[in-house]
Amino acid sequence: MSTTLPSNGAGAKYEPSHCIACQGNSVELFLDLGCTALANKFLAREDLARAEPRFPLRVGFCHDCGHVQLTDTVPPAEMFEDYLYVSSASATLKAHLYDLSDTVVGRLQLGPSDLVVDIGCNDGTLLTGFQRHGVRTVGVDPAVNLAGLHTPAGFDRFTGFFGADTAPAIVGRWGRASAITATNTFPHIPDLPGFIKGIDAALAPGGMFVIEAHYLVDLLDQIAFDTVYHEHVSYWALGPMRRLFERWGFHIVRAERLPIHHGQLRVWVQRRGEGAPDETVDAILAEEEEQGIPDFETYVQFARRTETIRERLTQTLRDLRRNGARLAAYGAPAKGNTLLEYLRLGPDLIEFIVDRSPLKQGRYTPGTHIPVMPPSRLLDSPPDYVVLLAWNFQDEILSQQAEFRRRGGRFIVPVPHVAIL
Ligand code: ZN
Repeated sequence: MSTTLPSNGAGAKYEPSHCIACQGNSVELFLDLGCTALANKFLAREDLARAEPRFPLRVGFCHDCGHVQLTDTVPPAEMFEDYLYVSSASATLKAHLYDLSDTVVGRLQLGPSDLVVDIGCNDGTLLTGFQRHGVRTVGVDPAVNLAGLHTPAGFDRFTGFFGADTAPAIVGRWGRASAITATNTFPHIPDLPGFIKGIDAALAPGGMFVIEAHYLVDLLDQIAFDTVYHEHVSYWALGPMRRLFERWGFHIVRAERLPIHHGQLRVWVQRRGEGAPDETVDAILAEEEEQGIPDFETYVQFARRTETIRERLTQTLRDLRRNGARLAAYGAPAKGNTLLEYLRLGPDLIEFIVDRSPLKQGRYTPGTHIPVMPPSRLLDSPPDYVVLLAWNFQDEILSQQAEFRRRGGRFIVPVPHVAIL
């Protein structure tokens, strides 16, 4: 089977675009990853012959407020109503989310009368963590296909997008929340003013909004260009996020860097006047200044380093294949599809991908059409080299695959530098 991949269309000139955070018109493009299929739209065999929708995947920097964002957006319903990413599929992530629930309950002293709302609740892993503490919980998520994936205990769920238009229905049914959480959801929000108005409507007086999101500083350090896909409308640093919340009557009272997913930012947000920022906020803002986060040139450099990875990894894989090696990949996260599409890798080079999620096994990668199989395939039909697409779970995967490595199998880690382990 061969796949025809589209031209990446790089090199064209673009006009400055609209900023979703400050509403200005000074967003300048710095990274063009081509025109790609939606990264979570894995295909069934019968879909392979059909044309897939493709959308430009380009990133820009706002010269007014410093926010890094996609310059082209896709209607959210296209991406989130049939969703294949499941939090509980990763042991590392599950432990992290349970720990977050312990931290929020401890800091806010939550009890049985308190409500926690989790926006983008996915399969309810974080809410299950909260339920261990006896608090009331509601999950909000637009993914219709995940609504049936309850934990054995079950939890209340609002199926839809969160915002100013849906918050009143949530409050009407369950009341106002002592804590609202959004893990890996805030970067998905194209209508930031509407979302924050919804937070204001749904949060009880004195309540806390807790965000965890991939952190721009870590993304740049790791040259993690594959964090860029259409779902991620925003790439947050603390500075632009603080400006956004202050514009809407909130302030950030605490900020923490976390190691999960190779670097995230956890931010605690309250209404202005309900809590005082602690020293962590200024400390992280000072680090961002030092690392050039407010400077456009930083992003031009990042785009150059991304291009270098593309050249080196493409060359490495083509050389190995020419010498007769069999190549596969590990992990079918959305980010893997950015990498596969940007490098234009198809099944002629990467024979198959293995992934632990049963929702993805038996399907094909969007855009590049590589089959996804269970991890047992690595021992049943061992390839010589495996590209680690889920490189943010490197330690977990390498230890799970000790037997494959003992038999001589090698892993190729794509970022921040191409390395063979
Ligand atoms: Zn802006």
